[in-house]
Amino acid sequence: MERSTYKITVYGTVQGVGFRPFVYTLANHFELKGSVCNTGEGVEIVLYASKEELKRFLEALQNELPPLASIDGVDVEQVALQAFDDFCIVQTKADAKKSVRIPPDVSICKACETELFDPTNRRYRYPFITCTHCGVRYCIIERLPYDRKNTSMRFFTMCKKCEAEYNNPLDRRYHAQPIGCFECGPKLELIISPKRLQKSSDEVIDHALKLLLEGKIIALKGVGGYHLMCDATNEAAVMRLRERKNRPTKPFAVMVRDLAMAKELAEISQKEKELLTSKERPVVIVKMKKKLSGIAPDISYIGLFLPYTPLHLLLLDAIKRPLVATSANISNEPICTNIEELEKLQDVYDAVVDHDRVIVNGCDDSVAMVVQEQTIMLRRARGYAPASVELPFKVKKNTLAMGANQKNTIAIAFEDQAILSPHIGDLNTIDSLAYYQNNIDTLRRIYDFSPQIIAHDKHPNYESTKVAKEFVATSEELKTKTVQHHYAHILGVMAEKKIQGKVFGVAFDGTGYGDDGRLWGGEFMVCDYSGYERVAHLKYFKLLGGEKAIKEPRRAALSLLFDLFGEETLSLQTPTTASFTQTELRTHYLAWQKNLNAPQSSSMGRLFDAVSSLLGVLQVMSFEGESGMLLEELYDKSVKEHYLFEVEEEAINTLPMIEALLKEKNTKTAVSKFFNTIVEMVANIYAPYDDLPLVFSGGVFQNRVLLNLLLSRFPKALIANTIPPNDGGIALGQVVACI
Ligand SMILES: [Zn+2]
Ligand SMILES: [Zn+2]
Repeated sequence: MERSTYKITVYGTVQGVGFRPFVYTLANHFELKGSVCNTGEGVEIVLYASKEELKRFLEALQNELPPLASIDGVDVEQVALQAFDDFCIVQTKADAKKSVRIPPDVSICKACETELFDPTNRRYRYPFITCTHCGVRYCIIERLPYDRKNTSMRFFTMCKKCEAEYNNPLDRRYHAQPIGCFECGPKLELIISPKRLQKSSDEVIDHALKLLLEGKIIALKGVGGYHLMCDATNEAAVMRLRERKNRPTKPFAVMVRDLAMAKELAEISQKEKELLTSKERPVVIVKMKKKLSGIAPDISYIGLFLPYTPLHLLLLDAIKRPLVATSANISNEPICTNIEELEKLQDVYDAVVDHDRVIVNGCDDSVAMVVQEQTIMLRRARGYAPASVELPFKVKKNTLAMGANQKNTIAIAFEDQAILSPHIGDLNTIDSLAYYQNNIDTLRRIYDFSPQIIAHDKHPNYESTKVAKEFVATSEELKTKTVQHHYAHILGVMAEKKIQGKVFGVAFDGTGYGDDGRLWGGEFMVCDYSGYERVAHLKYFKLLGGEKAIKEPRRAALSLLFDLFGEETLSLQTPTTASFTQTELRTHYLAWQKNLNAPQSSSMGRLFDAVSSLLGVLQVMSFEGESGMLLEELYDKSVKEHYLFEVEEEAINTLPMIEALLKEKNTKTAVSKFFNTIVEMVANIYAPYDDLPLVFSGGVFQNRVLLNLLLSRFPKALIANTIPPNDGGIALGQVVACI
């Protein structure tokens, strides 16, 4: 049998996932000689084999992958003959090119869970038990290659036993970078301000347990930041957390011990079960069965998730009841990742369960829901980031996309890959801007990436736009590309679905800067990667008070009343007008008349707000998206009718609908007919273009009722499943605008 030497390069998620020991085992199985090592591009295997042996080896390589690995591509080339004594794993090659992927953080695996609860195991009840198939990755990485010395585990020196496991290719912990044990790894600490108490791991957990059962609030350090936790079945505790956090009604996520506990609280479909128990363990929004007081007032859905670290698991296993687990942050600011940041919330918590493993990269929990068997990501973060998205084509230049201003994420792209950052958040405060800058630096550093082109939103006042401009000013070679907000929304879906050719995009959103300087958000556009044509939009109405209208649904409603009735509005009896004083009404009327701080908008999000105000559902929001969630609750599927609207050239006039809606006696009927009207609107505008694929994007598609209705009516319509429909999906769209 004639043998040659082959060099096999494997691309994809192949580092830090047990890939080299897998190759090692495979080679031994086939009795092949050679070597395997990590490079900046992926994994390089050198094999001395016959053609037939090579073929069998490559088949097994693809078919028997370790759980966290995935292969994007394999290159094989014959090289000069080399002699080998055996098959060995060689040291990582330092390499300038960094196109390799970092696996995201993953939840504790079954094998580790079994050991965690096995009294004979040396890691019995060790809160940081991990192996090659599970645990932290992204949150501890400082730079590539993914080796212990390049992570925050470098502060811990392995004990003899851990080191032996780490160096044994046949061990489940071979090169598991976060490996540790009671003797050598991270340790828990309990802080009851101002004291840092030296206690054993079990004592810390017992103490936390005691506090939680007493109705106290604890801050607990997880993977990518701290959670604030309290007993979800203790209404007084939940209300105390609401009061201290100044969060009157926004729903809290709840962590449950296991699927059985989740099923006691909510209806869980097969698909939802798969998401809940997936290695990513996102918060999944599910239909509540048993109401937990104060968790999600007036809303029948609840966000549930399962423990994803051994620490969470130990706590939940002991307490045997659901716990509120909400990100520890000041409203609209990034998640706290170290004790100094957390101390800003001193008045909120009673104790801290801390530990000494540094969080290098902050990362929130991911949030998802299932609509018509499709996963809709509402927030893409822990477990998913920084996984890459394969693009429909190669980008010509290294691209950095700055994202939008709300729910920001950023992206970098090289060749045919886009790497998306985790959810960063709203860019409204100095701290959030610093966190934003940090995320940009992190991606650049980890991937050793220098952008050649910077894509940003069209809005001149977005912080992301300003940062882009500052960036470009530092280098003559850097170019910028301005991308309209709603076009980016549609492009994001096109990129995810690898669509070539034209689509008919429906972007229903809060607000985004339009080509005419107005605030768009109810847009119908024919798009491809080279540009778009806006074929229809909601007729403009004025947002009284500009930005303020985003928080106060009654402002958009009042504006529509002025459009309909002019000055007569001042004497109308409606829930909207009743929420203002006469003086306020007059002031607003004047502003409306004279266009004083009353920008024009075609936003679908604001239309939802207006309807909720006109029907007396909500006048002022206490959290973003509240109006839409409350309208969902009022939808009655037995109502089949819809209201009339008028299409005037490109503008859809909804005033006939508003007028009819005001006359409706029953709120549920009105809300249901409103939803049905939007569906009719899409059908009407899409009809002449129905040879094109229909694409939905924009924050309004987070509305479960609307999305459900639209997907029922248009079963082939496309909605993103990897990136969020909200502004968290903008960065990917910006990337593909740069072809
Ligand atoms: Zn494990
Ligand atoms: Zn150890």
